[in-house]
Amino acid sequence: MLPLLKKYTMLFRLLVLLSLALSPIVSTAQKTILHCGRFIDVKTGQLQNEMSVTVEKNKITGVIKGYATGAATDRIIDLKNRTVMPGLMDMHVHMEMETGRNRQIERFTQNPADIAYKSVGYAETTLMSGFTTVRDLGGGTAGVNISLRNAIKNNLIKGPRIYSAGKSIATTGGHADPTNGHRKDLMGDPGPEEGVVNGPEDCMKAVRQRYKDGSDLIKITASGGVLSVAKSADNPQFTEAELKAVVETAKDYGFKVAAHAHGAEAMKRAIRAGVHSIEHGTYMDDEAIALFKKHGTYLVPTIIAGKSTADSAKIAGYYPEMVTAKALVVGLSIQNTFAKAYKSGVKIAFGTDAGVFPHGKNWLEFVYMTEVGMPVMEAIQSATVNGADLLGISDMLGSIEAGKLADIIAVEGNPLVDITSMGKVKFVMKDGVVYKQE
Ligand SMILES: [Zn+2]
Repeated sequence: MLPLLKKYTMLFRLLVLLSLALSPIVSTAQKTILHCGRFIDVKTGQLQNEMSVTVEKNKITGVIKGYATGAATDRIIDLKNRTVMPGLMDMHVHMEMETGRNRQIERFTQNPADIAYKSVGYAETTLMSGFTTVRDLGGGTAGVNISLRNAIKNNLIKGPRIYSAGKSIATTGGHADPTNGHRKDLMGDPGPEEGVVNGPEDCMKAVRQRYKDGSDLIKITASGGVLSVAKSADNPQFTEAELKAVVETAKDYGFKVAAHAHGAEAMKRAIRAGVHSIEHGTYMDDEAIALFKKHGTYLVPTIIAGKSTADSAKIAGYYPEMVTAKALVVGLSIQNTFAKAYKSGVKIAFGTDAGVFPHGKNWLEFVYMTEVGMPVMEAIQSATVNGADLLGISDMLGSIEAGKLADIIAVEGNPLVDITSMGKVKFVMKDGVVYKQE
């Protein structure tokens, strides 16, 4: 037996040596070449015709004029009929939930596993509609959105690259206090671990807890909100000292801070404290606009969330009474605010609040942004270069350039001519892997 085994070992070694010797010839990496009929260069803001993009493994290796032929072994993907652009980025989604009239009851009927299975579907829908990167700005205390992020990262399921805030941080009774509107004996008194804080010490603990939980960034609810069962949608809910504690502690852990704010006072305090983005921004006044510009803070508008909650509020019994009243007022103001902010030169990063409306309709935000004066190219830039800048990942993502990760999508038609093209995503590549090709 032994000599035979020895023989095989020798043979095996010989084969290994042989393959090593041949490797420079046979292992020429297979390239994927995308032939792009129309190509949106988000860096220069120009539309180009007949371009080729080469991809090797998960990276873009070249952007070339004309249709490159490559080697015989290369894979050609024909997008001559399409408009190609970087994978889109939505800076405000909630992967753990989707709107419905039973939301309030679901808090008591759903286990984390139920939420997790649903989120798998939401994630896939999001990716297939062209959004290859999202910020999840808040889920429940069980941390499903963090596990979802990990499952996608490990290729167990299909979904966008997720930057997760874990559970949002609120103050007692504030927007994102998970016990709002509950029966008193079920309410309890949640603390920093559940993302409910009072005072700077709590703020520090809550941020550190997010670090321990594996969050990528911090989300706070600086003012009241529409969908929480509480009276005000816009009152300030954090003191300056609390905001400072959040931002300073976040800095220690490399976290950026996103602040939900409808009310002007809450917004101003948050911007002064140094948050990186204001979500919604509904009641911003001129002083707030000046602060946005002074501090370079991004506005993440979520116009579609305002419109869709106002629509849902018109259906009797869809929301609790307290929510209905707020949704009808706040919802419709966001688009006008966005228009004013954009025209004033506030930096805009695309974000929708998906989950507050059905996932996959994120693209409608492009329609609402351009409806009130933002040029289509700038709307696309807000969902690519600006998203990457807000996340602090411009070296990796946000444009189609050699050296960046291969997150590339293509739509039917030309969105610069007809914005509804953004809803006709026919090709999705994330990290060099093709997830959709129609
Ligand atoms: Zn939200």
